Amino acid sequence: MNIAFRLHRAARGYASCFFALLFSSISLSAQSSNPDLLLLNAHVVTMNDRQPSAQAIATQGDRILWVGSTDEAKRLYPKPARTMDLHGATVLPGIIDAHTHLINLGESLVRLNLKDIPDEKEIIERVKQRAASAASGEWILGWGWDEGKWASNYPTNQALSAATPNNPVFLVGLHTFAAWANQRALELAGVNKDTEDPENGRILRDEKTGEPTGILLNRAQDLVAKRIPPMTLVQAKRGMQLAARECVRNGLTSVHEAKVTPLMVQAFHELLSEGHMPLRVYAMLDGADKHVVDEWLKRGPEIDPHHQLTIRSFKLFADGALGSRGAALLEPYSDAPQTKGVMTTPEADVYDLTRRALHAGFQVCTHAIGDAANRSVLNAYERAEKEVPDAHDPRLRVEHAQVLAPEDIPRFAKLGVIASMQPTHATSDMAWAEKRLGPERAKYAYAWRSVKDSGAHLPLSSDFPGETLNPHYGIYAAITRQDAQGNPPGGWHAEQRLTLEEGLRGYTVEAAYAEFEESNKGSIEKGKLADLTVVAKDVTKIPPPEILSIRVLKTFVGLAVWIEPKGLGKMLGDSTAHSIRRKI
Ligand SMILES: [Zn+2]
Repeated sequence: MNIAFRLHRAARGYASCFFALLFSSISLSAQSSNPDLLLLNAHVVTMNDRQPSAQAIATQGDRILWVGSTDEAKRLYPKPARTMDLHGATVLPGIIDAHTHLINLGESLVRLNLKDIPDEKEIIERVKQRAASAASGEWILGWGWDEGKWASNYPTNQALSAATPNNPVFLVGLHTFAAWANQRALELAGVNKDTEDPENGRILRDEKTGEPTGILLNRAQDLVAKRIPPMTLVQAKRGMQLAARECVRNGLTSVHEAKVTPLMVQAFHELLSEGHMPLRVYAMLDGADKHVVDEWLKRGPEIDPHHQLTIRSFKLFADGALGSRGAALLEPYSDAPQTKGVMTTPEADVYDLTRRALHAGFQVCTHAIGDAANRSVLNAYERAEKEVPDAHDPRLRVEHAQVLAPEDIPRFAKLGVIASMQPTHATSDMAWAEKRLGPERAKYAYAWRSVKDSGAHLPLSSDFPGETLNPHYGIYAAITRQDAQGNPPGGWHAEQRLTLEEGLRGYTVEAAYAEFEESNKGSIEKGKLADLTVVAKDVTKIPPPEILSIRVLKTFVGLAVWIEPKGLGKMLGDSTAHSIRRKI
């Protein structure tokens, strides 16, 4: 397929359903060097060391044609197809989030949003409306009712069940501590008055009859949640499309999706061919799924010449999370001396997949939180790299690299292993992380500075939707190690802070390197993709707290398609856009 056709097809797709998107018609005449678009009067932070700043950018097709001053631009290109005066706004290279879960964000966007609805009746009304357009038996899923506020007087499922007798309903609370299920959902899950409370969970019951009221606390939610059928292709596509738009609205131009199923791969392909995927995706296959691994190793990587969807890596999980004490530590937890956490994939298996992946031209990205898990993954990678010396540029990745034994830190650079880290994890976890680890180990937890100084590659990311997808929160956390209110004063283990330049590099140059795209993405220079994030304030000049409120004005994702956040908000419907913004 030639590129002009692809571009026009993509543009048609956008036009048909994004009324708020603007797009330019593109002429891809190879002879002409006249730009399709000339951006003027901007403060361009290029992240290109040879030309760190500029005021104007010319683009042609999906590429950057030229970067320089506004005066020079006007002289060189007197008649561009289109000119845009940016009135002093700041232009950054398109922001790349190197570890995301679009599908989970999508799931929350397709579910009924019940946040800020104060009244039980109103919630039931919304559920009823949704059920009216759903097939009989289809699950109605929602989230966001405030279980904290309603705790003293939880609703029962009577009115809810009467309003929706034919559809199972499952509404998760805002803080996910409680869920509200109707009778149909309880029946399908086999939850009745004889069902015992599970460990760490409680089924609320009617005082007189002992029947479940429909409110399930903590792990009792799983009794019903596990009965919810997996997403269909149509649901996955809708969810991922909504999530992708949300990303672009927040200034992201590429994401590294940390685990995709075959259904998601199909959904991505279909969205792309329909012109409904405004975001570039670097997808990691599920390395724990034997069928997926065998099939893809046979087939080989799928490297997209148009840089829209590339599949050339596998995701593994070496351990769990620190908060739930599932992270594998070398020594026991400081606040639970009886446990060291759990390895979920043994070193031998990480080694084996890595060796096979390297032979077939794939990268491996392994989740490792605890110091034992990190050491084990580094050991496995080291052995596999030795075994496959032909893989001269494997760029193996550790996702999170959260708690490291100091002696393991230099091994990242030595082995060429990428440390893919998340600044907001530190600021979300700092309230309790030191309790789990004790003061000594905490020194090398979320240790960006030590990792960076050891010479390792350090792409940064959000891990949304667990954390906000707003990249400015990540940049702020990376340079302050403080929460949004500025606590703790001076920052938590401030010696591990990054500079602003290093933080920006993490979301641009380094993230591009982590997906083998450094010659196409990550900086604003001639020949690279025209992926640009235009923001209202100059991030290099403002005090850190102001970074949190930086507005994204426009996001360009090559293809000469650009998106205005305000327009996109309109497209999602004002109330949705509003609530998402508040959530962020
Ligand atoms: Zn993740």
